[in-house]
Amino acid sequence: MAIETVGVIGAGQMGNGIAHVFALAGYDVLMTDISQDALDKALVLIDKNLERQVSREKISEAEKKAAMGRIKTTLQLADLGKTDLVIEAATERETVKQAIFEDLVPHLKPDTILTSNTSSISITRLASRTDRPEKFMGFHFMNPVPVMQLVELIRGIATDQATYDLMHDVVDRLGKTAASAEDFPAFIVNRILMPMINEAVYTLYEGVGSVNSIDQSMKLGANWPMGPLELADFIGLDTCLAIMNVLHEGLADTKYRPCPLLTKYVEAGWLGRKTGRGFYDYRGETPVPTR
Ligand code: NAD
Repeated sequence: MAIETVGVIGAGQMGNGIAHVFALAGYDVLMTDISQDALDKALVLIDKNLERQVSREKISEAEKKAAMGRIKTTLQLADLGKTDLVIEAATERETVKQAIFEDLVPHLKPDTILTSNTSSISITRLASRTDRPEKFMGFHFMNPVPVMQLVELIRGIATDQATYDLMHDVVDRLGKTAASAEDFPAFIVNRILMPMINEAVYTLYEGVGSVNSIDQSMKLGANWPMGPLELADFIGLDTCLAIMNVLHEGLADTKYRPCPLLTKYVEAGWLGRKTGRGFYDYRGETPVPTR
């Protein structure tokens, strides 16, 4: 089976990046969201990000135009039933993702492969709610998708080899690098990264350092390109909290306890860059620490 058309569910930070790289690689993309505003914003952002690649001479103006021409949007989830590969990149909440797959399944072609870009939720459990667990996989892109080289491929317990091989070929065609991870909470990258970010928030919570000193310490002392709090804002604090909760519940170890300060930021709606405020306030010219 050849993959030609790709359905992307969720037009947020990840969904628009995924649509961008697939369109550039020559796939026809159909993107959906519950919000027309999110779809409109995603198209504007993809255009802007492709333009940046043109100005850096990474792609030509013609390639940009062709890629934009391959992206269509719809508010009807059922329209994605005719695609060859579906990538779910909606909000990191299991009930949301389950409802999406349940609604989509009756409209799918028999061969369509289902994947989720979840950062942490069990692929086996998501797959078990569909009619095709053998054609279901974790397809975990990193943020920002057009820039980051890695894609984690996660097999659920029932995923068959043909599906895995096909997704590996897709990653190759995107010009990215696949890493295989087993289906345990948060897989590889976030199993290691999120407890480090959570520890940075505890370091702030306990007054060991300020936002600036924590980020500067990790940048200059550990050669991180971004500080952990800056990175948390970039990822989205709701996503960070959701991943810590999955680790905490899934591995039943207190070392994964989400920091209460992280919870408080999320309760305030201070979710990082995407809402204009998180550990930094992004509403002015330059980001200002909020603590
Ligand atoms: P986001 O908040 O930017 O976007 C989520 C989008 O999903 C929103 O536009 C929302 O309207 C839409 N949505 C919600 N419910 C929906 C539904 N029922 N049907 C269709 N669309 C719906 O979130 P994001 O950062 O793009 O994360 C999306 C997924 O990607 C999550 O599973 C997250 O764990 C994963 N992920 C995130 C990152 C990251 O750094 N942010 C990295 C890798 C993977």
